[in-house]
Amino acid sequence: MQRKLMHVGPSFTSYRVQMAGVSENTGFASPDFLEAMKNSLEGLLYVAGADDTYLPFILPGSGTVAMETVTSIIPKGSRTLLLTNGVFGDRWIPILSSHGLDLDVLSAEPGRSVSLDDVRKKLDTGRYQNLIMTHVETSTGVRIDIEKVSKIAREHVDRIIVDGVASLGAEKEDIARLGITAIISASQKALGAPPGAALIVVSRSALDHINDFSYFFNLKNWITPMERYLEAKNGYLSTEPVGVVLSLSRVFSDIRAAGLDERIEEHRRLSLALNEGIEAAGLKVLAERDLWSNTVTAVLSDHADEIVRGAMDLGIEFATGVHPKIAGRYFRIGHMGYVNDFDALAALSVIERAAAKCGEKVRIGDGVKKAQEILYDLTKKNGGGQM
Ligand code: PMP
Repeated sequence: MQRKLMHVGPSFTSYRVQMAGVSENTGFASPDFLEAMKNSLEGLLYVAGADDTYLPFILPGSGTVAMETVTSIIPKGSRTLLLTNGVFGDRWIPILSSHGLDLDVLSAEPGRSVSLDDVRKKLDTGRYQNLIMTHVETSTGVRIDIEKVSKIAREHVDRIIVDGVASLGAEKEDIARLGITAIISASQKALGAPPGAALIVVSRSALDHINDFSYFFNLKNWITPMERYLEAKNGYLSTEPVGVVLSLSRVFSDIRAAGLDERIEEHRRLSLALNEGIEAAGLKVLAERDLWSNTVTAVLSDHADEIVRGAMDLGIEFATGVHPKIAGRYFRIGHMGYVNDFDALAALSVIERAAAKCGEKVRIGDGVKKAQEILYDLTKKNGGGQM
């Protein structure tokens, strides 16, 4: 049986996106690749809501490569306030520490977000020059309000860095309007391309002072290559993941054709149907309702790992829980990339069946019904439908 991928990353991609990456043998200096790289860099600026005061970067690698590389803009001797709502927020701690960068951490219990009051109090101390936050925390499905946090932070710090790995392309980032200095992401999550590319967008003014650590992980060495790629010229520093960029370019063309706001709304609509469907079936969503994200839904259950195994047999791959405080007691649904209404309905049907089979008290059919109603109502209202 061919399984449907509703993991939290790599996410479900389209046949056309996959084929764009494998249909040709393409060299890194070929016109096809250079055109795809230019289109992807411009697309990256578009989905981030950046203007020409920002520079986009596409590097071989993953989200963690982007995290590590962007830390090169944090000056030695400055102090960072890290807001973390889970495992991927916590990942910044060893990254910054390994480069000798000072930080303090504000963290939240699983399913919750750090409070704006606490952020304000910390920033009021005047100790911080940088703030880092994760837009959608993939380990819990919690979305932080980057608009509200940025508004407070802009008055206190010089640099705001956002992890958009599970959000870029499916949540509003709007970094120029919000005064965000840099956003990082990866090809395989909310954008829905295959894994292999680290994505970064940085304000050009933040590129004037870059730390001297590392060769590969130092943005300084990537500025000229990216400027060249933006002109469709060869910018080789290290071999780019050619096939991934060809796929990514197709994703960005798809997003432009659909419209970014429309794509974000599609994700919101699917997320609402899935979250409400889960609760209607009698299960509980981990994230507090006002923190539900467009891309990841974490579901509490004492049978979580068994449900994930059962769902795999029924044809859908979900993700187990990774937050150390509640691992084994929840699982995660990824609804990003190229998933559509019928994937959401199938996901709920499979979850209801797998959960009932392992003794969870679920109301078979109620989750699917609720989601069906929401999707139908919102389709009528938006005139929208499928991504
Ligand atoms: N940040 C977030 C929010 C993530 O979800 C992930 C991956 N799950 C990462 C960073 C790290 O990305 P990668 O696994 O591609 O290195």
